[in-house]
Amino acid sequence: MFADAHIHLSDSEYGDRISEIVAIAKQNEVVAMVANSMNLETSKLSLKLAEEHHGLVYAALGIHPWNVNQLASNELEQTVDFISEGAALNKKIIAIGEIGLDPQYAKRKEHKEQQCRVFNEMLQLAERLALPIIVHSRWSAQKILGTLPSYGLRGVLWHWFSSPLDLLPIITERGDYVSEGPPVVFSERIQEVVRHVPLERLLTETDGPVRYHGPFKDKQTTPAFIPEIVRAISEVKKIEESRATEQILRNFSDFFDIRL
Ligand SMILES: [Zn+2]
Repeated sequence: MFADAHIHLSDSEYGDRISEIVAIAKQNEVVAMVANSMNLETSKLSLKLAEEHHGLVYAALGIHPWNVNQLASNELEQTVDFISEGAALNKKIIAIGEIGLDPQYAKRKEHKEQQCRVFNEMLQLAERLALPIIVHSRWSAQKILGTLPSYGLRGVLWHWFSSPLDLLPIITERGDYVSEGPPVVFSERIQEVVRHVPLERLLTETDGPVRYHGPFKDKQTTPAFIPEIVRAISEVKKIEESRATEQILRNFSDFFDIRL
């Protein structure tokens, strides 16, 4: 059995195909997928999907660093309220995500400050609700590592980690997890990351609907890719595929505190 720790099911590319995507996932033995949001609208949609596909789709809600510059007035406050209220009603919110920093989307000083402010609000929310976070760290892993110790976080998942390898021992010593997706099949760089992360700290993801090269070229990204990602991880780590499958699923259960 497999799990997709990071996918944007609320993206308009999936639109009315969600039931089909979920069915394809099930056929491929994917038993859990985490629908990550980007803003208020996709937070509402992700939670709705988690309710409609109970026990298969789970919601990670938050504001993505790419969306910070386009937030409507009060959207930050409204998103925080929406997530807090959902958590109080015991809805299926299992993490705060996707959140983080990305300097490519914050070139001006005021944009950088705003991105940091939103990220810190999301970290406070995660701490208050005792939820783990799913973090986007492109070009910003060092800065994020400097920020995290200010918060008492239940867990941190570094999604699509691709920063310098020397940061990995710091990350894994903190007890954080790393998730990797389709690039592990064709990218030397991501294979190198996987080699440096202990199996006990590794999760799998697709980050769909992002499109990929290699064997995934011209295919719509769905959780059905996960078995191939696990196979590639087992090859990189030179271990039995069944061992990788079992441990990665156990990591998913432990990290999100879900019994599968
Ligand atoms: Zn993502």
